[in-house]
Amino acid sequence: MLSLHSNLKGKVAVITGGGGVLCGEMAKELARQGVKVAVLSRKKDNAQKVADDITRDGGEAIALACDVLDKESIEAADHAIHQQYGSYDILVNGAGGNHPDAATSEEFFRNSHLDNEDVKTFFDLTEEGIKHVFDLNYVGTVLSTQVFMKHMLGKEDASIINISSMSAPTPMTKVISYSAAKAGIDNFTQWLAVHMAKENIRCNAIAPGFFLTSQNRNMLLDAQGEMTNRAEKIISQTPMERFGKPEDLTGPLVWLVDSSMSRFVTGITIPVDGGFMAYSGV
Ligand code: NAD
Repeated sequence: MLSLHSNLKGKVAVITGGGGVLCGEMAKELARQGVKVAVLSRKKDNAQKVADDITRDGGEAIALACDVLDKESIEAADHAIHQQYGSYDILVNGAGGNHPDAATSEEFFRNSHLDNEDVKTFFDLTEEGIKHVFDLNYVGTVLSTQVFMKHMLGKEDASIINISSMSAPTPMTKVISYSAAKAGIDNFTQWLAVHMAKENIRCNAIAPGFFLTSQNRNMLLDAQGEMTNRAEKIISQTPMERFGKPEDLTGPLVWLVDSSMSRFVTGITIPVDGGFMAYSGV
């Protein structure tokens, strides 16, 4: 369990995708640190479960539905949070994920795939699928920042955390749009850090390695719950030889949002990956 950081007590955090596995854990840790948390999820039920866990443990949280692809939905959530908590100190842009419509079924293309209807090639990907995953992971983060950051202006320090991925520095096979969008997130993180530097808003990103969650479960486990070839490959390329656990992310998160420790840190992406990015495989 992390030590408590008195600097965070009473701050307000908005967390998109907070009903999910990784950002749900982040929401709970921030609440444990005394932060008032607005937990947002596309479906309110998921956010409500996290908010209920927080309040049951003595923390303060509200749950709201918020679709990051719909600016009106973001503005409606913003309005409700502002009414309840006033201004914000922390924004975690966690909403994101993958979809089979924006992924090839094979890592490498072979001409023979063209005659095989069980294989989804690069040529089969639809414009709709490509745009959806890109928009969810990149445009959704930018739109959410446009809306929520307005209530962070004028603070002595405020902090935005974007969620990147190992598919940003080097694209992961199959997931074309997700990789492009997460590379865009690293780029946006630097762009926003520079843009907001004079106004005391720091912007950084966390890049989780491989964590078993709902968005990647069917790529990493088969119907029997055994690891797929892809999962075995990931573990063999991760020097610490395991998947991440959601709580592995909370230390870096707390460090980044507590300006008493990281006040001169802005524009970086921290890999939390058990050494995956550092390992050449040899
Ligand atoms: P998850 O599926 O548990 O959580 C994703 C959350 O995003 C869910 O709460 C979902 O409701 C929300 N979401 C989806 N579409 C949305 C929309 N249109 N509007 C608002 N919210 C929406 O997955 P997770 O693994 O906890 O993912 C959290 C973040 O971490 C994502 O950005 C993901 O890309 C990133 N990430 C995950 C991993 C991993 O290994 N699981 C690795 C790197 C990065």
